[in-house]
Amino acid sequence: MNRPPALLWFGILLLLLLPTAAGRVLLDLVGGVALVLLALPLLLTGAGWIGWKVLKSRLVTCPACGTASLKGQTSCPACGTALGQESTSAGVGDGSIPASDATIDVTAQDVGSES
Ligand SMILES: [Zn+2]
Repeated sequence: MNRPPALLWFGILLLLLLPTAAGRVLLDLVGGVALVLLALPLLLTGAGWIGWKVLKSRLVTCPACGTASLKGQTSCPACGTALGQESTSAGVGDGSIPASDATIDVTAQDVGSES
């Protein structure tokens, strides 16, 4: 408690005011910390939102009681109702024809009239 903290503050102020390398580094450090403090909640919010979306896409809701359970389960863990699996095996289009067996007819047509 011998030294007054005023001298320390004066030194820091001098570092900040004088265009020295140390003052610039200190300013960059403060700016970086402030940026991280500002951006961290946004990043956490975004990550949480993405995680929630991923989790939601892997959940299936029981049609009888509304309990959410992971996909791949055959029955609801709460009420035992058989969960439909057709949502996971839904094909392309109407789902009656597999996409690998479907054929697309392409007919050539003359476009443009070059004389
Ligand atoms: Zn259920």
